[in-house]
Amino acid sequence: MSGVWVWLEQFQGKILSIAWETLGVARRLADTLGTGVTAVWMGGGVADQAEEAIAMGADVVQVVEHPALVDFRFEPYLAVLTHLVSEGAPQAVLLGSTARGRELAGGLAAELGTAALVDAIEVAVEDGRIIAVRPIYEGKLFARTYVERPPAILTIRGRAFPKPDPDPSRKGEIRRVAVELDPSAFPTEVLEWIQETEGEISLNEARIVVGGGRGVGGPEGFEPLRELARALGAALGVTRAVVDAGWIPYKYQVGQTGKTISPDLYIACGISGAIQHLSGLRGVKVIVAVNKDPEAPIFKVARYGVVDDLFKIVPALTAELRRRGLAKG
Ligand code: FAD
Repeated sequence: MSGVWVWLEQFQGKILSIAWETLGVARRLADTLGTGVTAVWMGGGVADQAEEAIAMGADVVQVVEHPALVDFRFEPYLAVLTHLVSEGAPQAVLLGSTARGRELAGGLAAELGTAALVDAIEVAVEDGRIIAVRPIYEGKLFARTYVERPPAILTIRGRAFPKPDPDPSRKGEIRRVAVELDPSAFPTEVLEWIQETEGEISLNEARIVVGGGRGVGGPEGFEPLRELARALGAALGVTRAVVDAGWIPYKYQVGQTGKTISPDLYIACGISGAIQHLSGLRGVKVIVAVNKDPEAPIFKVARYGVVDDLFKIVPALTAELRRRGLAKG
């Protein structure tokens, strides 16, 4: 039983940023345990990113190419990963805490008769045990948990750990693994991918998020926020009040019943700061609030606060970015 394994999640052949962050965690964990890192790449076509995985910290990259693995589907991905992990018997398997990573982690734990710890924001080794620290109860408490029975299966929260710096001089081994899969044995098939909004920055991956609440006043009020977001290269996030009013679709909602985000900067405009909204902001490094009401609870969690009308402040911020030549879009 040895080694720390990591699943390199890819979409349309490109390894996701969260997978590199997870590989960085795996490397540190393996160094502490005095063992190696094996990365598993599953997909179709040419796996030219295997070399990159070695530069990022993997010692071995297992490349599994098969037509049934081109697009993520739970059944074939789980079948291959279970087979590889059963043979390799690692101490731990790390996956990014994406919808797919969490699904696969749960499936793998069930197949191997162990447990999956999802959404780790800290990973440590104590007395030889792998400990994951995870937010629970909407982030009000942190649980320190370990898995009794190896392998420990962990999913790692996006943007909670840095992406490793590549070291092109690192040496490693690329192993091509042949698998036999019968595509007709799997009940799902991906017919096509539909991109909802071309070129939009995803809330989960954004380094900056511009948030809008009921104070924005209506769907048209979001235009200045969108302009600021474009200028900053930021994503847009909203409160449930905005979604419930039908101004902006649910996929932009941040909070207890929406997304949990971890950007470096969150600019909250016309947002009161209800606990259910704040629970989606636990991983945010710096919050800036713009609100007319000096008593708004958002100011209790904001590093910087502006007590003023957002329709005055937001366009002024965008104009200042443009004036200084810092605006992106
Ligand atoms: P409000 O609370 O109405 O605040 C609007 C703010 O805008 C006020 O502070 C006001 O001073 C300010 N304002 C108004 N005009 C301006 C202006 N021109 N310039 C500057 N400031 C201005 N909420 C979420 O966000 N996410 C969730 O996931 C979520 N889940 C929930 C789950 C449950 C079970 C429940 C019960 C509630 C949930 N809520 C959630 C709702 C939450 O309780 C709040 O109702 C909601 O977050 C309030 O949204 P808001 O801040 O946009 O609106």
